[in-house]
Amino acid sequence: MKVCPKCGRTEKEVPFIGFFCRDCYLEDHDVVRFPERLELPYCVSCERIYTGRWTEFSLDALRHWLEGKVKTSADNARITFSFPEMDEEKIIYRFILRGEIEGTEVEVPGDGEIILKKTLCPRCARESGGYYEAVIQIRGSNVYDHAEEVARMVEREKGEYNFVAKVVERKEGVDLYVGSRKIAEKVAKKIERRYGIKPVRSYTLVTEKNGKRLYRVTIALHFKD
Ligand SMILES: [Zn+2]
Ligand SMILES: [Zn+2]
Repeated sequence: MKVCPKCGRTEKEVPFIGFFCRDCYLEDHDVVRFPERLELPYCVSCERIYTGRWTEFSLDALRHWLEGKVKTSADNARITFSFPEMDEEKIIYRFILRGEIEGTEVEVPGDGEIILKKTLCPRCARESGGYYEAVIQIRGSNVYDHAEEVARMVEREKGEYNFVAKVVERKEGVDLYVGSRKIAEKVAKKIERRYGIKPVRSYTLVTEKNGKRLYRVTIALHFKD
């Protein structure tokens, strides 16, 4: 019969992992490991977190991210998390990992700390800097309604820079300053299909870097109704 060399209990009393009883084995082995320092970038402006991509803050997103950080020697491991404390600076997490080591069931609890690293996500950094790559000019009839409609379409497009940085009212209509040229083009194409109007494009040279010319595009949309 096996006797644990550390605590003297026998196989009859407690389950064993190798030569040691389960408790003594778990005391001496790091079955679950998280990185020493866990930092999670957090945008102070839109409050999203960076978990490989910028995403809305949620406990599920947090759990999913933590699951990707854990290393374990247990087989068939399942891990559950709870978050008993969080504030602007850090999040305390608790976990319970259940699995098997050499066929013996183990349950390992633990906790740790996530440091929230305050930053601006690329989107907010651009937005706050008044950055834009394209101007969509709304002209013709019902410019306010159409400006609203186009702004919504910009925000519904996928991509980090789907924002309208600035709205300027002019005598001739409304100008929307859009964070991404690609998104402005996509929206213009959709408007073209929806209303059968031809976008009119013009380009301004913004900078010339390392022989590469950067243009800002202006897309005029003339609505008929
Ligand atoms: Zn023992
Ligand atoms: Zn942000």
